[in-house]
Amino acid sequence: MAIYTLPELSYDYSALEPHVSARVLELHHDKHHSAYVRNANEALEQLEEARAMEDFTRVASLERALAFNVSGHILHSIFWRNLAPKAGGRPQGELLAAFENDFGSFDLFQQQMNEVAASIMGSGWAALVYEPLSRRLLVTQIHDHQSELSPGNVPLLVMDAWEHAYYLQYENRKSDFFAALWNLWNWEDVAARFLSARKLDLRLSAGAR
Ligand code: FE
Repeated sequence: MAIYTLPELSYDYSALEPHVSARVLELHHDKHHSAYVRNANEALEQLEEARAMEDFTRVASLERALAFNVSGHILHSIFWRNLAPKAGGRPQGELLAAFENDFGSFDLFQQQMNEVAASIMGSGWAALVYEPLSRRLLVTQIHDHQSELSPGNVPLLVMDAWEHAYYLQYENRKSDFFAALWNLWNWEDVAARFLSARKLDLRLSAGAR
């Protein structure tokens, strides 16, 4: 039985135009994201078979496949909800205050996100995360879907920097794609994630501040 399922988009394929074309969104959601869901379920099934047969010879590659595909599924699920038609602008309230406190200003945060996305070698993501040990916001560069993500980091806003996210529409002008995303960020969704993430307690003996 499938454990992971592809979430429906809460808007039409054309709703994010002209920043993300309907064709790119349809392929990205229906083909790329759905493949991560399918492969995550397959890895779980194969691990179950391995346990049933007590044959763990492929366990390392199956664990790698599971981490890659579950992470791909989670990041895309967040990405779709981070975006909304006619959104963008600036966050308000506590989230804006956290940007000012942890990055100096919202503009500096924006510059850092764009630069982190643009400087990825190969495939990856720029992510705004809540880091529960220091209880602050950080920007992190994620290679593929999971490498360089610290344990406990909670992704709040993610920027897909894989070529499948932009190439059909923007070709080699990936910085234009990253700039366009700032017209689509759904700050209400990010603020709700921030509120929820701040309740996380990793139960570590020493804090950072
Ligand atoms: Fe993607």
